[in-house]
Amino acid sequence: MDITLQQVSYAYAKNTPFEKRALFDVNLDIPSGSYQAIIGHTGSGKSTVLQHLNALLKPTEGSIKIGDVLVKADQKNKHLRKVRQKVGIVFQFPEHQLFDETVLKDIMFGPMNFGVPAEEAKSRAIELSRLLGLPEEVLEKSPFDLSGGQMRRVAIAGVLAMNPEVLVLDEPTAGLDPRGRKEIMDLFYRLHQEKGLTTVLVTHSMEDAARYADRIAIMHDGKCVLEGTPQEIFENEERLLDYRLELPQCVKFQKKVEQMMGKKLPTICLTEEK
Ligand code: ADP
Repeated sequence: MDITLQQVSYAYAKNTPFEKRALFDVNLDIPSGSYQAIIGHTGSGKSTVLQHLNALLKPTEGSIKIGDVLVKADQKNKHLRKVRQKVGIVFQFPEHQLFDETVLKDIMFGPMNFGVPAEEAKSRAIELSRLLGLPEEVLEKSPFDLSGGQMRRVAIAGVLAMNPEVLVLDEPTAGLDPRGRKEIMDLFYRLHQEKGLTTVLVTHSMEDAARYADRIAIMHDGKCVLEGTPQEIFENEERLLDYRLELPQCVKFQKKVEQMMGKKLPTICLTEEK
C-alpha cells in the first residue's frame, strides 16, 4: 500500500490563540514494500507526520493518500477505520498502552475489536509471541509482571496482530539496552524483508537509518528538507551539518578508508550488520 503526502501543512489548535504550525508543505512518497526512515531533531515534526500516516491527524492544507483513501482537511471519510487497521503504529513506549488481564488477551484485543474471530486472533497471538521471542508461559501472565523488554514485545505483537500492511515505528527502541535494541531492530528488518511489510521508522538515530532504511527523509523545523537513498543523503556532509546532523559511524569509517586509499569505494557499506 503506497502512502503519499502532498503539500501537507498542519497546525495544532488551528484558529485559536494557541495555534502552532508544525508542518509546512511536506511532500513524501512511501511506496509499498519500502523501508523509509524519517529523521530529525526533537520538535522537527516527525511525530506530526507519523500521526498523518494513519489519519489520526488530518492535514490542515494539502492531502495524504493512504492506499486508495484520500485524506484532506475537513473532509469526512468513512474509510478511516480501514486505514487504521492497515497502518499499524508502534508508538514510543508502547508498553504504556498494555491494559488487559493476560498477555494473550492483550494481543488478541485489537483483531477481535475489528471482528476477527477469537480462534484466529488466538492463533495470531501465539504465532507472534513465538516470532517475538516470548516464552509460551508468558501468554497467561499479566503483562505487568513481565520485564520491560518483554512488555515492549507484547505491545509490538498487539500491533502486528492486526496484520497491518504498513508498520510505523516511533523510536521503537527508546529505553532498551544495546542488545535489546539490536534484537528488535533486526526483527523489524526481517518482517520487512520476509513479509514485504512497508516500514516507516521515525528516529533521531542516523545509525539506524543507515543500517536499515532504503530511503531517508530529513525533517527540520516542520519541513522535509532532504529525501533520498542513504547514499544520496550521506554524500553531502555539509548539508547535514546545516541541520545539526552527523554522519553515522559506518559512513565516517568508509570515508576514512577512502581517504587513506586515495580513491572512492564503489558502495557505502551500510548493510553489514543487518
Ligand atoms: P518531533 O516528533 O520531531 O519531536 P513534533 O511533531 O512532536 O516533533 O512537534 C512539531 C512541533 O509541533 C513542535 O514545535 C511541537 O512543540 C509542536 N507540537 C507537537 N504536538 C503539539 C500539540 N499537541 N499541541 C501544540 N503543539 C504541538
